Amino acid sequence: MTLVNLLDLDLEALGAFCERLGEKRFRATQLFRWIHQRGVADFDAMSDLAKSLRAKLAQAAEVRPLAVVSEQASADGTIKWLFDVGAGNAIETVFIPETDRATLCISSQAGCAMACSFCATGHQGFARNLTTGEIVAQLWHAERALRARGLAVGAAQRVISNVVMMGMGEPLQNYAALVPALRVMLSDHGYGLSRRRVTVSTSGVVPMIDRLRVDCPVALAVSLHAPNDALRDELVPLNRKYPIAELIAACRRYLEAAPRDFITFEYCMLDGVNDSLAHANELVALVAERADTRIACKFNLIPFNPFPQSGLHCSPHERVLAFAEVLRAAGIVTTVRRTRGDDIAAACGQLAGEVQDRTHLRERAARRAIGIQLQRPAQPAHAKESA
Ligand code: SAH
Ligand code: SF4
Repeated sequence: MTLVNLLDLDLEALGAFCERLGEKRFRATQLFRWIHQRGVADFDAMSDLAKSLRAKLAQAAEVRPLAVVSEQASADGTIKWLFDVGAGNAIETVFIPETDRATLCISSQAGCAMACSFCATGHQGFARNLTTGEIVAQLWHAERALRARGLAVGAAQRVISNVVMMGMGEPLQNYAALVPALRVMLSDHGYGLSRRRVTVSTSGVVPMIDRLRVDCPVALAVSLHAPNDALRDELVPLNRKYPIAELIAACRRYLEAAPRDFITFEYCMLDGVNDSLAHANELVALVAERADTRIACKFNLIPFNPFPQSGLHCSPHERVLAFAEVLRAAGIVTTVRRTRGDDIAAACGQLAGEVQDRTHLRERAARRAIGIQLQRPAQPAHAKESA
């Protein structure tokens, strides 16, 4: 008999599982706390559970961790884990400590089928969706490993204060596994993270944004990267299916369910591709036309993290600042993301793990990157404008 991986179950499902074992549902709460709050995998160590229950659990279930291939620490405190998920596939998880928070960046798929031209994961192609257990296991492992390093803070003895679904993969293409994983993160008996401290980042899977709004409205980040469809079609191929107007409309609907929230628009700064002042003004028109129709949002400009084969370059720092200034002048809160962990290839878009590409995206994406390069003007648009 295959053992049930308890990391696959949210509290509701664990309750049902306990009932199937002939136990009271509330036992699930105790069990859930042992697993997620205390990081215990061994049923025998769960001292306040009856011996008979522990015996039943040992027969039917396990807490299945991910196999760690490596753990690398950056000079800036960032830690990256590489996990083996079988069949030649590996995924990455990154811990990013800051002064006021400690964020874990989690993967949702082995590879990604979205083939964004500026993303290392997208260049690798897609192998498979991760299970709920594999998504949760990244948090479970990281929290345990960080505590073992003595990094726990506060009465709860927790290290990780925020989770972002910004590792490998498109989380909204793995919706069925994602939502129970989010529930484990949010549960008071699990990781106890508030809705606003768990962020799903998407390249714009519009129907799933609508479903997330109903099922589990956590913080939403949208990878925009271009102010118009012609350019976004090239950078984020999913845009051909769900163009910008539909995406923005879905963002507005999302905010109706969470009116005190805002959408974070991520914008990867690509030299000579999407970084001119004209692009910045187009973005302002897109989101902030009139104060009364303005979408509640924040921009996060991400300096492009280069990787081999992309054929793309990061915008010069001054251009990033000038771009940010245009947005700020229009009253849009804009931050420039600090690159973290680039000495261990843990920065945004550098996560490549190891993926057995089943979709041949790698070759297709490489062809597209060449196309984008050819479209770059001989003189960067920015240089013309500031002249
Ligand atoms: N698939 C989701 C989440 C994972 S990517 C998404 O696309 O939103 C997380 C963020 O990193 C996204 O905003 C993505 O566009 C950005 N990113 C990808 N490649 C990058 C690169 N090479 N440099 C900087 N940011 C990158
Ligand atoms: Fe996939 Fe996101 Fe990378 Fe696009 S940016 S290829 S959606 S992981």
